[in-house]
Parts: sequence; structure tokens; C-alpha cells
Amino acid sequence: MTALVAARWRKANDLFDRICAFLAAHGLGPEPENYSFVYTVLTDPTGPLATAVARITDGGVRLSRQDMTTLGVDLRFGPQAKVAAAANDSDDDKAQRAEKLVAQTQAQVDDFADMMRLMREETSDFGRNLVASAEEINRSAGLPGIEDIARITGSMISRVRRAEAKLASATQEANALREKLAEAQDTARRDPLTGLPNRRALTEAMAIRAPGGRDSIAVCDIDRFKLINDQHGHPVGDRVLVAIGQALADACAGHLVVRHGGEEFAVLMLDTDLKDASMLLERARQAIALKRFRSRDTNALLGNITISVGVTALNPGERGEDAMERADQLLYTAKAQGRDQVCTG
Ligand code: GH3
Ligand code: MG
Ligand code: MG
Repeated sequence: MTALVAARWRKANDLFDRICAFLAAHGLGPEPENYSFVYTVLTDPTGPLATAVARITDGGVRLSRQDMTTLGVDLRFGPQAKVAAAANDSDDDKAQRAEKLVAQTQAQVDDFADMMRLMREETSDFGRNLVASAEEINRSAGLPGIEDIARITGSMISRVRRAEAKLASATQEANALREKLAEAQDTARRDPLTGLPNRRALTEAMAIRAPGGRDSIAVCDIDRFKLINDQHGHPVGDRVLVAIGQALADACAGHLVVRHGGEEFAVLMLDTDLKDASMLLERARQAIALKRFRSRDTNALLGNITISVGVTALNPGERGEDAMERADQLLYTAKAQGRDQVCTG
């Protein structure tokens, strides 16, 4: 083991012990969110979270889960996402901060897991060597001092076993944390109502498209959607949003269909020229217009539900926002020309 790895290991092990001791002292389980909470408290002792915790626990009072939520801990995603967030921040700000947190924590977890794996490999070798030595000492019993050596070696072996068990559980915990983070990363890019990717996923996909590719983008908006809410109620409106999102995703299978906001969807069509993109969206528009939506509660027909669409090419080197703005203008034209149509430009 190099001196650097050893130093890192000692540091991580010390922190790990302190985190475990804190969790035990406050009767908290080793769930990733608790672990992450205590990690923040201990690694940023002068930060806002640690200061608030010190205030609550002054005099040795235990932290409760209620205290943790009061402190702004999101028990699903860990402390920093909410602690640093002001109540009136925009959704984009919140998403960006959560994103940064996820990336930072992901790096920490990766580091931690790698270190654990390395140490486990090394201690298992160490354990095997010690077992072999102890057996050899036992075979040559009778010589003076041998029992002592065997006893000492035996106790070292049990220490190594304890260390191995601790490392195995730390690795398991790190893996659980990694899974949670992957889930949080997916959540940050998915619209909870429709289950479709969201605007963030679209922005990222546009940022990494091949330069010089013949790609197209469409913005789709449900026509007179406010009327559906007004006449049938918001829950019915929600179900219509889900159904339209699904219909679009089906009609544009193989392309990225996102809920762009409200009753608006966007479709990113990589390697698809404007003519093909326009035809694809026209087919999607027709498929939606032919659907018959009924209220699940009353079985009443909701009437025809249609969409208007603006489609444009993403020119080589063009910023995604500029193409989106053009698609929006085309959508506006489609609305102005009577809705239920695709405008291409
Ligand atoms: P237009 O054809 O011009 O697009 O008319 P519209 O009624 O669809 O457009 P408008 O922008 O006036 O109304 C959009 C409505 O979409 C208003 C808003 O309450 C509703 N809406 C946005 N998000 C949701 C949602 O998540 N669920 C429900 N049920 N309604 C939503
Ligand atoms: Mg609309
Ligand atoms: Mg709209």
C-alpha cells in the first residue's frame, strides 16, 4: 500500500468511525440519507447544518428525524440539496444545485468505494498470510514461547476479521449510496407526472449532439387545454397530459420526447432532416387527433384533443436555444392559423 493510499485510508477510516459514532449516539440507522446528513455535519463543522445541529444538541439532546426535517434535510436525497436552498429559488436553480450535489457526492462515493475495495483486497491477503503463519507456529509446538506467538497471531487474525467485516459493510453501504445517487440523477431528468424525460434532459441531449449532424427539433402544445381543466377538473387534465405524452412518445419512438413544461412537449430528432421530422410530427398530430378520450369517472367523451406543432432544423453549430425559439415561433403561427396543425420552417 502506498503512503498516499494509507493516509487516505486512515483519514476515511477515522471519518467513518466518527460518522458511525454520531449515528449510534443519536439512535439513527445507517441509511444513506442519515449517513449523508452526518457526513455533511462532520466534514463542514462550521457550516449552517453543523451549527444548527450543535444548537439543537447542545446539552446532549438526541437529534430526532423531526429535527432533521426541520433542519431542511430532504430525507430522500440527503442534506445539502435543501439546506442551501432558499424557499423562493426557481426550479432551475434548485435542479442545478441538486445536480451539483449529485456530481460531488458521486465523486466522493466513487472514491470511497474504490478505497474500500483496495483495502479489502489487501486485508484479505494479510489475513491469509497470518493464518498460514499461525498454522506453521502450531505445527512446531514445543519450542519455548510458541504458545505466546500463536496467541498473539490469533488475536491479530481476529482483528483482521473484524476489519474485514467492517469494510464489507462499508462497501455495501457505499454501493447502496451509489444506487440512490443513480436514482436521484434519473429523477432530476424525469417529469414525475408523465414519466417522460424533462427539459433538463433535452438541454443535455442538445449540448452533446454531433457537430454538423442533420438534426431537428419540434415543440408541441396541446390546444385549448385550459378548457379541459375548466370543464372536467385538474385531475382529468393531468390524465390527458399523461395520455398525450404517451401518444407522442409512441408516435416518435426512437427519438427523445420530453415534457417541456405545462402542456408542452418537445421532440429532439437526431440524424433526421427537416422533411422527415415534419412528416413524423404530422403523423403524431393525426394519431392524437383520432384518439377518443373519455373521463374515467363519468365515461363522458372529452371531445377531440389536438396539438399544434412547430418543427425546425438544428443547424450545424447553432445554439439549441436559438432553434427552440424558432420552433416556438412556428408553434405560435400554427396556433394563429387555427391550431391542430404542424408548421415547419
Ligand atoms: P392554446 O391552444 O392557446 O395553447 O390554449 P391553452 O388553453 O392550451 O393554453 P393556456 O396557456 O391558456 O393554458 C394552458 C393550461 O395548461 C393552463 C394550465 O393550468 C394548464 N396546465 C399546465 N400544467 C398543467 C398540469 O400539470 N396539469 C394540468 N391539469 N394542467 C396544467
Ligand atoms: Mg396549449
Ligand atoms: Mg402552452
